[in-house]
Amino acid sequence: MGDRPANLKAGFAALTGADHTRLAAESAYYMTEPVDYTDQDWFVNAVIAVETALPPEDLLAALKSIEKAAGRNYNTVRFGPRALDLDILLYEDRVIDAPGLTVPHPRMHLRRFALRPMCDIDPDRAHPVLGKTMAALLSELDAAGQELARL
Ligand code: ADP
Ligand code: MG
Repeated sequence: MGDRPANLKAGFAALTGADHTRLAAESAYYMTEPVDYTDQDWFVNAVIAVETALPPEDLLAALKSIEKAAGRNYNTVRFGPRALDLDILLYEDRVIDAPGLTVPHPRMHLRRFALRPMCDIDPDRAHPVLGKTMAALLSELDAAGQELARL
């Protein structure tokens, strides 16, 4: 919601401006069609790569606190409008299946809004569970219902 590119930019800056994390690469920003709950405005999505001293659980906690500072209200519908949503797509080649954290993100390989920006950064990166590259996963997805446009 709100100024979506600005919210993303501020969220990225909050993470990469911290002592524990630095920016390594940033994708283009994309306007993307809502997928799960379609009666809403298009989203803006982007992917960044970071180098971080935080282990995965601490990184997720940092992302949640940045979302909170951006005014995210956790009482609204899941997949619905929000000021900012920061997810961990990949963490090195780690496979994590903990109660509050699944890595790789369990739906990233199904979502053009994740794979398209991911391919800006690292199209040859292999998905550690599926064994296919980000570019291959993207090419397997049907664009219908998942339109996107570079901002
Ligand atoms: P969305 O699925 O749209 O990102 P939320 O941001 O509300 O929805 O996330 C719901 C929960 O998903 C979070 O509370 C978090 O603990 C959990 N979660 C599990 N794996 C991940 C991940 N890889 N990145 C971010 N959140 C995750
Ligand atoms: Mg999230």
